[in-house]
Amino acid sequence: MSAYKPFEAARLFFDRAAEQLEFPDELRVLLTTPEREVQVQVAIEMDDGSLRTFLGYRVQHDKSRGPMKGGLRYHPDVDLNEVRALASLMTWKTAVVNIPYGGAKGGIAVNPRLLSRKELERITRKFIDQIHDIIGPRDDIPAPDMGTHAEVMSWIRNQWEKYHGFNPACVTGKPVEHYGAKGREEATGRGVGILAFKLLQRLGRKPTETTCAIQGFGNVGAHAAKFLYESDIKLLAVSDLSGAYYHPQGLDIPKLLRYSLANNGSLEGYEGAERISNEELLLLNVQLLIPAALGGVITESNVDRVQAEMIIEAANGPVTPMADQVLHDRGCVVLPDILSNAGGVTVSYFEWVQNLQHYQWPLDRVRQELDRVLSHAFEEIWQESLQRQVSLRTAAYMIAIRRVSDAKRLGGI
Ligand code: NAD
Repeated sequence: MSAYKPFEAARLFFDRAAEQLEFPDELRVLLTTPEREVQVQVAIEMDDGSLRTFLGYRVQHDKSRGPMKGGLRYHPDVDLNEVRALASLMTWKTAVVNIPYGGAKGGIAVNPRLLSRKELERITRKFIDQIHDIIGPRDDIPAPDMGTHAEVMSWIRNQWEKYHGFNPACVTGKPVEHYGAKGREEATGRGVGILAFKLLQRLGRKPTETTCAIQGFGNVGAHAAKFLYESDIKLLAVSDLSGAYYHPQGLDIPKLLRYSLANNGSLEGYEGAERISNEELLLLNVQLLIPAALGGVITESNVDRVQAEMIIEAANGPVTPMADQVLHDRGCVVLPDILSNAGGVTVSYFEWVQNLQHYQWPLDRVRQELDRVLSHAFEEIWQESLQRQVSLRTAAYMIAIRRVSDAKRLGGI
């Protein structure tokens, strides 16, 4: 498998859309240059009394459409290049679903699995000490990403409020009982399900006659699987780090969910299905493929063997630009990540709105609004793609970068 380069991929997809829009070079440079990039030292005392120094990053890509929004990733591979690419993706993602935000991303190069809970808390608070003056409800609102979770968001809120006073809207993805939004946890997977339905409808296919495979059974993959199973789509395979699980007549998703819950989030040892590899899952004879684990899994080295007619990019960047072109030429419909996994940031936006109003919506309202926002965005992209005769990805980028450049022009550069 070739190395996945998120920055190069994001730039290539941007350029394809900018060409269609006939944007001049100077505008492209403006739209792709981050507003601010910050690298800070995060030094903490470990539980054993030793001193460790980590590097923390926050890249603020664009704020022309509103406060910047983006997750915080704790992972050993985090570096400025990756954070920069993910920050720009957030700008396009918030623009494509038309919520009033810009884009940002942050992270710390650390393996959170090797930290104790207390060390995780110390590293988080120290990082916020370093960046508290550039984030906040009107400027830049962090959220969870790989390696961070609701409790980390509570520490962020608490640390930020020590400097700036009570304001839970300074971060999203908080625990529901602590100013979080109902439905945030399921939002990305549910969004994938909502969009799968819209896509099938537009392509004139019946859910009951559609077969599907999902790579990844974590937060996104498992919630998407639940939604699709309840909607009568036939799920033939799902997978996680332990491998893939296949049943030609369809998997019993509720049983898999119960198994994973009882088994510390892993499907290892599940016996109700045939065991295949993750690579084999990607190449299965299914109509709909949903990569919901990692970036760079469909590449020039396996794209010729991918049989799916529809791909929904639930993970960030699962299809490389070269593979994307091959799929497009072959007539495979790819719903791009900047739309497919935007359910999470959309409900994060609802959380921020609720916090600003000191009010909590019931779950039904969150779900209805999510459906409305994603369905509307899907229709806009579908129409743009038809009118301009471009892929759904290029159409999504065109809508997003046009919105951001319009906001810049209207606001005065
Ligand atoms: P997660 O950590 O909850 O789950 C990841 C799943 O992928 C796990 O089941 C894990 O076992 C599996 N996995 C890891 N490596 C694998 C491999 N090599 N092959 C097969 N499976 C593998 O993460 P998540 O929150 O579900 O996020 C999944 C993807 O969606 C990521 O790319 C993330 O950036 C993207 N995403 C998530 C959200 C969100 O709200 N959670 C929002 C937008 C995008």
